[in-house]
Amino acid sequence: MSTPQEELQGRARQLLESGEVALVIGYGQGNTPEKTTPVFLTDAAQVDQLVLNPFCRNNLAAWLTRKDLKAKHDTIAIVAKEPDIRAVIVLVQETQVDPATVRILGVRIDEPGNPDSPVAVLPQTTLDELQQYLQADFQPRDMTPEQLNDVDQFEKLSPAERWAFWRRQFDRCIRCYACRQACPMCYCDSCIAQMNQPQWIDTSAHPLGNFSWNIARAFHLAGRCIDCGECERVCPVDIPLMRLNRFLARHIADKFDYKAGYDVEAYQPFASYKCDDNEDFIL
Ligand code: SF4
Ligand code: SF4
Repeated sequence: MSTPQEELQGRARQLLESGEVALVIGYGQGNTPEKTTPVFLTDAAQVDQLVLNPFCRNNLAAWLTRKDLKAKHDTIAIVAKEPDIRAVIVLVQETQVDPATVRILGVRIDEPGNPDSPVAVLPQTTLDELQQYLQADFQPRDMTPEQLNDVDQFEKLSPAERWAFWRRQFDRCIRCYACRQACPMCYCDSCIAQMNQPQWIDTSAHPLGNFSWNIARAFHLAGRCIDCGECERVCPVDIPLMRLNRFLARHIADKFDYKAGYDVEAYQPFASYKCDDNEDFIL
């Protein structure tokens, strides 16, 4: 019986051999046993480079919007965990990815980072099937008990306490933009945080600019963040970015009954209008 990793390699081989895709983006072994690194395979003979283990952490959907890759390869397959599949769904919603040019090698990792975590290759193969798989246990307000408790505790703080908390956190930001680079939803060619003509946000690692940068990024992600946690994982100074992302996600769920990444046909809350939308907060 083949292992999940062998099964994944077999599927990738079949996609490349048949010419169904020109490129497979997956995980390869990193420079230590607990690390993996993205690999880019164009030949079926390379598929033994693919690994599938609990340390497959990056959200590879971030590569799907890269113009250099799209220019070179007209069809791309990516290895995608559940959050990464949600990212592809949002990218299709936002017309950044043409579903006809993408294949998804869906995988499941129950406890990423835990060496004993079970891993599996999903039997579903089309975006439609994968979407149905995700929707099977869809709950707009769903979070783990720990995440829920964290947001609950944070919500209990006064606005002044929250403000002070985030000022302290964002003061530590070194403006490395690793959070942005890791995020599949941050795909602008030119980021507002680094523009200087006009300059909207102070570009140096200064408390004022740091605050604007992090708040602007969180707002740009509201209703779009698919909760992969990559931004927080890659932050070199351990800013708890997911607390802010989940806080916003919960308000989006409460106000709009919406959770990002589950329905390719859905209109996103901030990209659509309903006559009965609540407007109280505007006045
Ligand atoms: S903001 Fe963070 S958690 Fe949300 S999609 Fe981007 S990287 Fe993932
Ligand atoms: S990864 Fe952390 S330190 Fe780097 S820009 Fe993002 S929040 Fe700031």
